[in-house]
Amino acid sequence: MKEIVIISGKGGTGKTSVAASLAYVSSQRTVLADCDVDASDLHLVLEPEIITEEDFFSSELAVIDYDKCSDCGKCNDICRFKAVKNKDNKFFIESNNCEGCGYCSHVCPEQAITLIRQNDGKMNISDTKLNKRLYHAELGPGAENSGKLVAKVKNSAKKYARENELDYVLVDGSPGIGCPVISSLSGANLVMLVTETTITGLHDLKRVIELVKRFRIKMCCIINKSDINTEIRDQIKEYFLSENIELVAEIEYNEDFPRSISAGLSPAEYSIEIKTIFENIWNKIIQLT
Ligand code: SF4
Ligand code: SF4
Repeated sequence: MKEIVIISGKGGTGKTSVAASLAYVSSQRTVLADCDVDASDLHLVLEPEIITEEDFFSSELAVIDYDKCSDCGKCNDICRFKAVKNKDNKFFIESNNCEGCGYCSHVCPEQAITLIRQNDGKMNISDTKLNKRLYHAELGPGAENSGKLVAKVKNSAKKYARENELDYVLVDGSPGIGCPVISSLSGANLVMLVTETTITGLHDLKRVIELVKRFRIKMCCIINKSDINTEIRDQIKEYFLSENIELVAEIEYNEDFPRSISAGLSPAEYSIEIKTIFENIWNKIIQLT
């Protein structure tokens, strides 16, 4: 089983269009994982039918039992997140500020504080119109620990692939270089970078490549909207040469990309011409894994 992770240094490069098109042309022996848990959207073009929903518990929140509290104020003194407040000589915990560190429950002389697990979102397992299973997630509003949810989605998809002797796990990762991206990279066989020909595109591409290099994972790249700025495109290509990163495709700006997404289809499903481009890309990337 090989794991291919699609990431971009920044949002707006067309990463999800690329992921959806590769999902469309990939082998039937592929499971899909949408690890962009902060803004998952791969499901929008896959008509998923949810089979299973699993709650995701990650953070904890301190709660005071007022039958035990003696109003000593020790919790207020030690909370460095300023989550403990006082009103009319009563201490209470402001949930938005509480990090769930548990220090207050250790110092409370009355054992009046307990930590309650919070439901931070859910992971869905769905069948899709492509006859490929999709693992995807929804992070609750304001919830943190998206890296843990990414790990849950990815590890569940890998387990399914192993149990069903599938050949590929195709992962749509998060933009940027933060915790969710790091989580989606771990264990990957190949990282596909999607970039665009803008100054910020090149800048963020360099940052994400430095990150992937630390994991020693093989990389390849697609330059999307390659004709928008040919000067930057040439700089990107030179940079790939210097970093020994294989450029698997340059895709010119094509109105069919946004049109397809509005129609609820991947670009490869929407246009025969784009389908052929992605079939060639898929054939190249499986050679690299
Ligand atoms: S430390 Fe415990 S007893 Fe003291 S104010 Fe806080 S909750 Fe109440
Ligand atoms: S759990 Fe930590 S952050 Fe929350 S109130 Fe207690 S000390 Fe403050």
